[in-house]
Amino acid sequence: MANPFRLPMVPRALRNVVSRPATRRYPTEVRPAFSGARGAIEFDLETCNFCMLCARRCPAVAITVSREDRSWAIDQLTCIACGVCVEVCAKKSLSMSTRPGRVHTRSEIGADGRRPGRKEWLKPVPAPEPAPAAE
Ligand code: SF4
Ligand code: SF4
Repeated sequence: MANPFRLPMVPRALRNVVSRPATRRYPTEVRPAFSGARGAIEFDLETCNFCMLCARRCPAVAITVSREDRSWAIDQLTCIACGVCVEVCAKKSLSMSTRPGRVHTRSEIGADGRRPGRKEWLKPVPAPEPAPAAE
């Protein structure tokens, strides 16, 4: 089509007016996850035995495990969603979720220097059995 105004952007602008949007209105319109899609790591505190294998194998050093404190933590901004931790966990405590979640940005770093996207779980130590009453 000849361009009567000799403006190169006019045909493109007209096409954009009548065409569908190139992007989705996330989060109101969410794209369904495709087969094999990777997402955020989900952790099950109940089954974890704090063996630390996931932390040792994580290529991005995104996982911190403490056997003494019985704590497990992940830095979602550092995680590259490779799935290695999910594969090596013998207790099946880790999985990948493709549910849309909250997006974190580095601008959220607080005054205390704490990175955004870091989530920690702490397994409560069971209370000791009460000592039997003296007779
Ligand atoms: S590999 Fe599994 S069981 Fe071991 S610390 Fe990681 S999540 Fe827990
Ligand atoms: S998915 Fe990969 S980068 Fe993310 S925590 Fe697991 S091993 Fe580390």
